[in-house]
Amino acid sequence: MSESPYETTNKFLQDAFDELGLKPETEHLLKTPSREVKVELIIRMDDGSIGNFIGYRVQHDNARGPFKGGLRYNTDVNLNEVQSLASLMSWKTALIDVPYGGAKGGIHCDPRELSDAEMERLTRQFVERIHELVGPTTDIPAPDMNTDGQVMAWFFDAYSDVHGFTPAVVTGKPVDLHGSLGREAATGRGCMYALREVLEYDGRGLEDTEVVIQGFGNVGSWAGRLLHDEGATITAVSDIEGGIYNENGLDTYAVQKHVEETGSVVGYENAESLTNEEIFELDCDVLMPAAIGHVITEDNADDIEADYILEGANGPTSYQADKILDDRGIVQIPDIYANDGGVTVSYFEWTQNIQHFSWDEDKINSELETHMVDAHRTMRKLMDQYDVSMRTAAFIGAIERVRESTAMRGIQ
Ligand code: NAD
Repeated sequence: MSESPYETTNKFLQDAFDELGLKPETEHLLKTPSREVKVELIIRMDDGSIGNFIGYRVQHDNARGPFKGGLRYNTDVNLNEVQSLASLMSWKTALIDVPYGGAKGGIHCDPRELSDAEMERLTRQFVERIHELVGPTTDIPAPDMNTDGQVMAWFFDAYSDVHGFTPAVVTGKPVDLHGSLGREAATGRGCMYALREVLEYDGRGLEDTEVVIQGFGNVGSWAGRLLHDEGATITAVSDIEGGIYNENGLDTYAVQKHVEETGSVVGYENAESLTNEEIFELDCDVLMPAAIGHVITEDNADDIEADYILEGANGPTSYQADKILDDRGIVQIPDIYANDGGVTVSYFEWTQNIQHFSWDEDKINSELETHMVDAHRTMRKLMDQYDVSMRTAAFIGAIERVRESTAMRGIQ
């Protein structure tokens, strides 16, 4: 049986622990989630029937600040996946150096089967069940797969009904409802900065770089548009329905318009169609998984024809695949660095909410760029110092920061 998402994350962590030579008790402390919550959610469906769902919130570590992490609505959501994603958040927030810990949550459901009214009832019910465990100084959710500004708006409203006006309880809110300029594009923009930094280090540039993207939702579509702006050629993109390919490059703005009109990239006229399996085998400079986890495994790692993998999605690569790709000299820009733009601008949103003050978009984008550039520098230093991959260096940098904060705060 293939490894679970949480096993994969812990194996990557262990690689870094081995380099650091930590005591087993410290490793145990850093691995173990602080709290795991599972709640039953019962709502009235539009047709009068009773809908029964399970919601999760895993709070992994808060040594450096309040727990922070997205809320995912999907049929894959289960405790193991949420544990893995919560742990990844602790290492992301530490590496990118924002004052948070890590958490994640989700509801096991198929959002495509739910009406907006059902999604709203489900979200409000979830808040009712977990509101005592979250808050602006304890745990701050954000959007993730199949959740967006509207879901965050319902969350904020339901929480504020009980606790009073509290916009800082969630980030990723609509700009007109205490959200931040730049947040919607932030993860894709961070991916663009990450790729630019890595390519520049190797003496290459974004211009004329061929990029293939799996997943054309928030992260993939913004990365696709911003990379296109910087001169990269996006030759293929896909979503859950299938993929499209044009060897001369896709106009990612036109593809996005097509998605807004039809709900999918499929059917876009200036392209050939291909499957989600085929997209991983395309000859390109950069392959960007930006959809779901565990899509690059030992089954397809040998078929990948890219020089770089830019991990927009969380946990897209299995442990065995990571080793195969390393051996093949394919540079992996790891999720705990590449997709940090979202949580970084979430931090700026939270800061603005607390200050009751708004920043302009240029300031947000330039502060994000600074965080991405600095984290790249941190990883490069550790790659040289320990002679390890970018992924292990990213974990080492993050673990060191969390460990130091834990030690300074003390253990009773
Ligand atoms: P989204 O729901 O906006 O988009 C997901 C995209 O993936 C859609 O195009 C969907 O059709 C596609 N998809 C879903 N299942 C698929 C499958 N089986 N095969 C191919 N495509 C599939 O989600 P998002 O916010 O863009 O998140 C995508 C990934 O990025 C997730 O792993 C998420 O955890 C990660 N991420 C998101 C953010 C953020 O700010 N949104 C931040 C960090 C990481």
